[in-house]
Amino acid sequence: MVRTRVAPSPTGDPHVGTAYMALFSYCFAKQHGGEFLLRIEDTDLARSTKASEQTILDSLKWLGLQWDEGPDVGGPKGAYRQSERLPIYKAHTQSLLDNGHAFHCFCTSERLDEMRKAQMAGGQTARYDGFCSQLTAEDVAAQISAGTPFVVRMKVPASGVCTIQDRLRGPIEIDYAQIDMQVLQKTDGFPTYHLAVVVDDHLMEITHIIRGEEWINSAPKHQLLYEYFGWPMPELIHMPLLRNPDKSKLSKRKNPTSIRFYKDMGYMPEAVLNYLGMLGWSLPSGEEKFSLEEMVAHFDIDRISMGAPVFDVEKLKWLNGRWLRETLDDEALADRLSDWAFNRDKLMQIIPLIKERVEVFSDVAPLAGFLLEGLPLIEAEQFAKLKTEPGVAIKVLQFSLWHLEQASDWRSEVLQAGLKQLAETMDVKIRDFLAPLFIAISGRSVAPPLFDSMVVLGPDLTRARVRHALNTLGGVSKKQAKKLEAEYRQLGSAL
Ligand code: GLU
Repeated sequence: MVRTRVAPSPTGDPHVGTAYMALFSYCFAKQHGGEFLLRIEDTDLARSTKASEQTILDSLKWLGLQWDEGPDVGGPKGAYRQSERLPIYKAHTQSLLDNGHAFHCFCTSERLDEMRKAQMAGGQTARYDGFCSQLTAEDVAAQISAGTPFVVRMKVPASGVCTIQDRLRGPIEIDYAQIDMQVLQKTDGFPTYHLAVVVDDHLMEITHIIRGEEWINSAPKHQLLYEYFGWPMPELIHMPLLRNPDKSKLSKRKNPTSIRFYKDMGYMPEAVLNYLGMLGWSLPSGEEKFSLEEMVAHFDIDRISMGAPVFDVEKLKWLNGRWLRETLDDEALADRLSDWAFNRDKLMQIIPLIKERVEVFSDVAPLAGFLLEGLPLIEAEQFAKLKTEPGVAIKVLQFSLWHLEQASDWRSEVLQAGLKQLAETMDVKIRDFLAPLFIAISGRSVAPPLFDSMVVLGPDLTRARVRHALNTLGGVSKKQAKKLEAEYRQLGSAL
């Protein structure tokens, strides 16, 4: 039985890269009559949030990817949220310690820093030097009873070559000398990704691991752990990473990367999924438009294209146009539009913002239309007419964007309080601060209440509009961004 999984960490927006991995994992499993699982990797307590987990689940569901087992639907191999599996990781770490495959490490961060600096100065790879692996059992017991904080690290052979097999790339050789004695259990007792992923993939009987190529370097550590536990190794399939048009790793600075953005912009889930599929694979006939069912029916993992897949929003838009025209009749399109935003719920969000400002129904569309648009048409001259100085306007937009990218609570009063505080810390009058934001969000200088509008638009469209406004003003160069970032960070300590 083929079993695959997608294992997102709930630390941010639902990323198109996650959907890409989920899609290929899904197709491979389904093509073999197998099962596809969803596991939440939330062992990074400080960065994981429930809200992020929920939007990831919602976004993947919106795309139409159904998992057979997962935190919301349960299943025989649960729990499917790593934070609920801590005793399992503890027991497995203990068994590695008992069998001499792992050791307690009491090194302070100062010692580790010095060690790394010295290694790098000598042209070596920064890597744990094994100091604590030499401690006697008595030393270890004494340190533990003295309450010295510790991590648990895995042992790695001092020499030799590790060969991992990747289905798409063949054998990959990496010298053990390049592989770090990875921390498996952190000082807080939580497992690291490396331990948890191996234990879970084994216990959840995953047969094929499909994930991004950025994990290739971790594969030797994982393979060693499989060997230490005496478990069979699942097959590895590392997918090429999605890229920006300039071939750099797909990043939200250059492309909207949140699945929710595409939903809020009014893309069809079928088209987004089709596009993600097209980035790594093609139908034998060469037809670019295909459904999930067609992809499953014809899927061949060995035909995954190894070229760097460029995520091109224009191409996605073109494909969406085909889906819209070729698969939706007028009735179906009307239903979709009403599901998307032309519905009563949306109106009930909008009405309180505009009621005081309209006299007849036909006043509504001109006033509230921007809440149903993608990116409003704006021009640099609109900013030039403001009292806010051009340099200040750029700074306000960029700092607000950074602030909004961090904001996880998207309630109007919270947004207002946060941005007001930012204005005060920047020492910019609130009127001058809000004016460029009004244009960015609504396309006009007079509009319904700003923060409530941001709530109606949601985080992704709001951020996209601020980014779009910055671009309209000529964009922020790398050098300028660095300077602004330093300034923003300094403000951060005052915020
Ligand atoms: N939690 C990891 C991530 O967020 C999963 C990597 C893997 O698939 O092994 O990408």
